[in-house]
Amino acid sequence: MPLFDYECRDCGEIFEVVVVGRDRLPNCPGCGGKKTRKLPSAVAVHVKSDTATPRIEKRVKDYLKDGKFKEATRFADKAAAMTKNDKAKRIAAKLHEKTGD
Ligand SMILES: [Zn+2]
Repeated sequence: MPLFDYECRDCGEIFEVVVVGRDRLPNCPGCGGKKTRKLPSAVAVHVKSDTATPRIEKRVKDYLKDGKFKEATRFADKAAAMTKNDKAKRIAAKLHEKTGD
């Protein structure tokens, strides 16, 4: 079964779901919200090459632009874990430093 990553647009929760049916969006396990969206597959799959990095960086920057430090950190952590990407790990580490988390 393929695992997909989703993000809740209400509370920023990032969660994995085994998708059985087609394109149905799961509810958020954190807040029960329905405003979830699938994360880019480059992040959801185990990417060995560096192609995921620009997307990760862009996304982290988008979060930071909105002042969403917690979400940015959580996303970077997740991305680093899933891509085993050194750059993503560094981004995550830097965010942890900043947020003191
Ligand atoms: Zn939520």
